[in-house]
Amino acid sequence: MENVIIIGSGPAGHTAAIYTSRANLNPLMLEGMFAGGVAAGGQLTTTTEIENFPGFPEGISGPELMQTMREQSVKCGCRIETLTVDKVDFSAHPFKIFAGSQMYESKTVIIATGATAKKIEIQNGDRLWQRGISACAVCDGALPCFRNKPLIVIGGGDSAVEEATYLTKFAAKVYLVVRRDVLRASQVMRQRALANPKIEILWNSNVTEALGEKMFSGAVILNNQTQATRIVDASGLFFAIGHAPNTAFLNGQLKTDETGYIMTLPGTTQTNLPGVFACGDVQDKKYRQAITAAGSGCMAALNVEQYLHEIG
Ligand code: FAD
Ligand code: NDP
Repeated sequence: MENVIIIGSGPAGHTAAIYTSRANLNPLMLEGMFAGGVAAGGQLTTTTEIENFPGFPEGISGPELMQTMREQSVKCGCRIETLTVDKVDFSAHPFKIFAGSQMYESKTVIIATGATAKKIEIQNGDRLWQRGISACAVCDGALPCFRNKPLIVIGGGDSAVEEATYLTKFAAKVYLVVRRDVLRASQVMRQRALANPKIEILWNSNVTEALGEKMFSGAVILNNQTQATRIVDASGLFFAIGHAPNTAFLNGQLKTDETGYIMTLPGTTQTNLPGVFACGDVQDKKYRQAITAAGSGCMAALNVEQYLHEIG
């Protein structure tokens, strides 16, 4: 039986791995195999430069940062299996965790499964998915089919601005479709979008239909104030409308809020079940940063250590 199993491999999971390893708890991490469509390492593997993670004054690429975190976890002694957890049984001790044909038993569990990009239901959206429609500009934006062509990004947060800015490196022009008359993005990102001559913001707008036979070729865009529609020709459509927490595998066994985020006791990573802890974006819909995820991963490890001490 394991002392602690860590499910997930973003900054939260790896920080928990480093701390529990150094506490001699011999942790096992189940890092996921494209769980929720994201590579092991989590959301930062889908981005370019990280400029706000302390310790890297010149910035560091997302994939490189996650690779170094994984190396540190392994160096500290964490065992890592590239498996996605399908279900859990928290009804009795020890807790049971199922991943493919494997079943693990553990005294404690740290859930660090993060969040996954959301998609919007639009007409023809499923048919043209991955045929010009994507939820990851950084993964797909440099493909030849998008080069020197007009592209569309939907969303008004930091992700949307980052993805639109990234796409301007390759695209002829990027339309940023924002459903309100303001950007939710942080001030620095807002300024970046407004100052970029290749980005045109379509305010108060929604994409209602994707056009194209074999490949996406444009979109019908509705102005939700005037109800006027227009067709925008483009070779790519990128969703950047936020994320949903990866909690489906829990099958309702932990208390979550109405949008699926795991609820933790304020100031701790304790869930409603003693011995089960949650950290990172899966329990945080407010801050959702690499450093806050890492910080709560540290808290989860310390909470586990204390819990194991208390139960002897
Ligand atoms: P995640 O990074 O989401 O990782 C969770 C991991 O768990 C994933 O690898 C997933 O595959 C795995 N997993 C999921 N389900 C299972 C399962 N059932 N079994 C096993 N494994 C599973 N933050 C910043 O601070 N600075 C930035 O510059 C920045 N840029 C960003 C750019 C983009 C495009 C995005 C999307 C986010 C960005 N963020 C940034 C936010 C940051 O990435 C997240 O806050 C952080 O990655 C959350 O870490 P996490 O450990 O909670 O989860
Ligand atoms: P957010 O939830 O912050 O923003 C989502 C955006 O999509 C909002 O503008 C929202 O509109 C819009 N939206 C949501 N649903 C729809 C829909 N159905 N149709 C049209 N538009 C929709 O998510 P992000 O992914 O942008 O950011 C998540 C977190 O990651 C944040 O904390 C952010 O700071 C962080 N991050 C940080 C980065 C950085 O620091 N460089 C880069 C990327 C992300 P509305 O505003 O109207 O709700």
